[in-house]
Amino acid sequence: MASSSSSNKKGICYLVGAGPGDLGLVTLRAKECIELADVIAYDYLVNKEVLAWAQPGVEIIYVGKQADQHTLTQDKINSLLIEKVKTGHTVTRLKGGDPYVFGRGGEEAEELEAAGCAWEVVHGISSTIAGPGYAGIPVTHRDHCSQLTIFTGHEDPTKEESSLDFAQLASTPGTRIMLMGVGRIGILAGKLVEHGAASDTPVALVRWATTPRQEVLTGTLATIADLVAARGFKPPAVCIIGGVVGLREKLCWFERRPLYGQRIVVTRTRQQAGDLSRQLRSLGADVFELPTIRTEPPRSMMEFGQLVQDCHKYEWILFTSPNGVEAFFDMFFKLYKDARDVGGAKFVCIGPGTEKKLKDYHLSAEFVPEKSVAESLVKELIAHVGSLENQSVLWVRPEDARDVIVTALTEHGAIVDEAIAYRTVPETEDPTGAHARFREEGADVLTFASSSAVENFFALNLPLPSGIKIASIGPVTTAALKVVGHKPHIEAKQHDIPGLAAAILKACGK
Ligand code: SAH
Repeated sequence: MASSSSSNKKGICYLVGAGPGDLGLVTLRAKECIELADVIAYDYLVNKEVLAWAQPGVEIIYVGKQADQHTLTQDKINSLLIEKVKTGHTVTRLKGGDPYVFGRGGEEAEELEAAGCAWEVVHGISSTIAGPGYAGIPVTHRDHCSQLTIFTGHEDPTKEESSLDFAQLASTPGTRIMLMGVGRIGILAGKLVEHGAASDTPVALVRWATTPRQEVLTGTLATIADLVAARGFKPPAVCIIGGVVGLREKLCWFERRPLYGQRIVVTRTRQQAGDLSRQLRSLGADVFELPTIRTEPPRSMMEFGQLVQDCHKYEWILFTSPNGVEAFFDMFFKLYKDARDVGGAKFVCIGPGTEKKLKDYHLSAEFVPEKSVAESLVKELIAHVGSLENQSVLWVRPEDARDVIVTALTEHGAIVDEAIAYRTVPETEDPTGAHARFREEGADVLTFASSSAVENFFALNLPLPSGIKIASIGPVTTAALKVVGHKPHIEAKQHDIPGLAAAILKACGK
């Protein structure tokens, strides 16, 4: 649980830039501030996936402002931050991009300072730099410019005392970057031309830059307004004016990635989702995590502890999931200080993921069945060792595992003890709003890496968008899908996370 505030704990507010959208562009310090916060206030442009890094139970407040839709006024936001800091909270105020680039970060800092609150700023990668970059446009380039101007188009250019100096903006050399200008692009471009800018100056608009929803529109000062109207192009977008726009064709690496444009849902536990999400994101997919399960300690830690304590007495220790390996060694190292106390037991792992987890402890499996299903285990094990007669086996298992393993092992004369290492329970928290996102935006691919994730996902009764592809990690998960009336479109050949990512890439990649 998040540490609760107390009157003697000193509060602080971190004004944090959450970057332009790509989760990979969030700084390490920003992640730390999210992890240690007990209150998080976030804006419209912040990628909500960052909220998954928050401690369970923290207060998460949306204070976003969209052009015509103010949730909280700036004054109210300032008062909220001050009040939370004064009551001893660690507040992380998340803003899109960099907090000091048209983000009102400076104003909030002034208010916090004036109120005597502790505060710090954590800079972020601004959409003004990375946004163009992800569209293939470097903001400066030696062949094109040596000056960069950043300005806001939020100003109403028709009002008499505009603080934007159009004569100067029109004549200034180099790249000009405009934020918040989509709604007034026609008037703004017109003003620049009126003040002497060449009407064929290249212009690009990058919407939802650095995210998989990125859209790019290119034209010139003369054509851009009509193009925006024709396409129905909407904010938020960064506008780039200048010769560097021409580099886009050559340098647009982001949109070329193989899973670009695919929205993929990861249903693993919050702790385990990262691996699959990272692999899919690095292929260009728009990944969101919708954890349907989480693992909890077993009902009887004492019983589990006793079996782990006696583990050296067994001939075999059988692991059927990475979670089991982790729970086993967490307990083991509470009981023993020396890895050698594990004794002479040989390890059997079902699944390459389980074997890999064991390798993390610098231990190797004596045996891993070819097929990652319980049914194959006994047959292959007998082929490997000859007979199981009177062999003692400790099976490290989840509470809700299937009985096939025990039945088959005992039928062949093995003596099996079962150590219940963890329980899988439905995930009840949804800090990133993944359920709403799934309802509203749907997805292209829905992934499952375990049968319990399948059961709990379908128990949520979320509507499945038409055309969605279901991807399964292997035959056991596929069987669970069949029980709920679905046949996966994609099944991994290799039944682990890299195998699942590879199968999705093969089926959906360009
Ligand atoms: N502090 C932010 C800018 C805040 S002003 C930064 O440094 O990026 C809000 C404007 O930023 C939006 O209207 C839009 O012009 C731009 N913006 C921010 N994130 C964006 C994104 N991912 N894609 C396109 N424009 C973005």
